[in-house]
Amino acid sequence: MATNWGSLLQDKQQLEELARQAVDRALAEGVLLRTSQEPTSSEVVSYAPFTLFPSLVPSALLEQAYAVQMDFNLLVDAVSQNAAFLEQTLSSTIKQDDFTARLFDIHKQVLKEGIAQTVFLGLNRSDYMFQRSADGSPALKQIEINTISASFGGLASRTPAVHRHVLSVLSKTKEAGKILSNNPSKGLALGIAKAWELYGSPNALVLLIAQEKERNIFDQRAIENELLARNIHVIRRTFEDISEKGSLDQDRRLFVDGQEIAVVYFRDGYMPRQYSLQNWEARLLLERSRAAKCPDIATQLAGTKKVQQELSRPGMLEMLLPGQPEAVARLRATFAGLYSLDVGEEGDQAIAEALAAPSQFVLKPQREGGGNNLYGEEMVQALKQLKDSEERASYILMEKIEPEPFENCLLRPGSPARVVQCISELGIFGVYVRQEKTLVMNKHVGHLLRTKAIEHADGGVAAGVAVLDNPYPV
Ligand code: ADP
Ligand code: MG
Repeated sequence: MATNWGSLLQDKQQLEELARQAVDRALAEGVLLRTSQEPTSSEVVSYAPFTLFPSLVPSALLEQAYAVQMDFNLLVDAVSQNAAFLEQTLSSTIKQDDFTARLFDIHKQVLKEGIAQTVFLGLNRSDYMFQRSADGSPALKQIEINTISASFGGLASRTPAVHRHVLSVLSKTKEAGKILSNNPSKGLALGIAKAWELYGSPNALVLLIAQEKERNIFDQRAIENELLARNIHVIRRTFEDISEKGSLDQDRRLFVDGQEIAVVYFRDGYMPRQYSLQNWEARLLLERSRAAKCPDIATQLAGTKKVQQELSRPGMLEMLLPGQPEAVARLRATFAGLYSLDVGEEGDQAIAEALAAPSQFVLKPQREGGGNNLYGEEMVQALKQLKDSEERASYILMEKIEPEPFENCLLRPGSPARVVQCISELGIFGVYVRQEKTLVMNKHVGHLLRTKAIEHADGGVAAGVAVLDNPYPV
């Protein structure tokens, strides 16, 4: 994709002045992170990294990503309710991957005891890149779907004002008017509010499971603030707090510090290092409870990369979404090549293909949070090592998406403004609420565009690689 801002990106002096203006506006709008030096305190904060200009995104791809979001919501919800599918899909992975195995154990325990919760809440974000094709037209390809702790909905609600400001300073009023309004934090809060209401206990609270050190607190506060505006109170607690102060009554209602909890919203608990033994016990307690969990353990498992890979097999979408051929077609159109590495002929073939053309593949373990995937020479070494071991079942292989790079200027605290070749990743936020078997809400609630320099294969904003951006529809 060409950029609209070509000549502007060449004028260093003007860029520096624009960057100062943009940073001040970002701070004023609340596009904030705590600092890495003081991740537990809001006394000193800085701006979240962002692009100086919005990046061009074809309107058709934006529309396509929005149009398929409700289908993805339905799909995740269907997978989470299909215990047989989850069991079969994850059977080889859980033998090799301890983290997935632990999550799966909790899932089994909850099923055995019987699910107490009647209200189910999904807040997810489906991420895409724009694959360039032979004829030059880009295609929307899903990178992954995040079913737990999908972040940056709060800050993404505040970045449009920053880019409008930059364009207004340049007297580009018409262009400024093209920046889409975006308010995922409101939509995410509406989902939580609906689940809270259906839980049906006016004095009950929302419990946000927080990390001890949370740089991205303002992103979370944006959702908390939306809830408070609807008179729904949120308490923030860590897993440790829950293991000390959480309890269930005989109806498995959840209480923390003596207060009843209607909804549990996880912003922790998606990585192995976030779980001590005590934390696993706290997670089990929460899962056993009647409170609506976002996500419940089955929905977290539905977001694993192994599930993503199995969903791409012929017939799987049809089995999970019977009688919905149009939804199936929309979903499948966004799938990139995904390959099982389970021991056997199919996995051997995938490994051989990746070793023959390493630049066309990505090797992914069952991890979230960025920085875990392997590319290029590292992938080759890993594949050679894994080839003859059962451990390979804990990974999947994926076709590497190659978007067309473009220029933009990246702004980060402590670094000079940097004009570099970039690629973007578009995320769409989805919300659904189900009561027993009835879906009562299913919508898309906004987007997130993240942009990074092409030299980084992996990693998001939290990992310090990508920066916040806005789509400039063309
Ligand atoms: P995580 O759960 O750690 O976020 P992702 O699957 O989203 O894992 O991968 C992390 C990052 O790696 C993505 O944000 C993207 O930049 C890059 N990436 C992942 N899969 C691909 C792919 N198939 N092609 C190109 N880049 C990819
Ligand atoms: Mg990701």
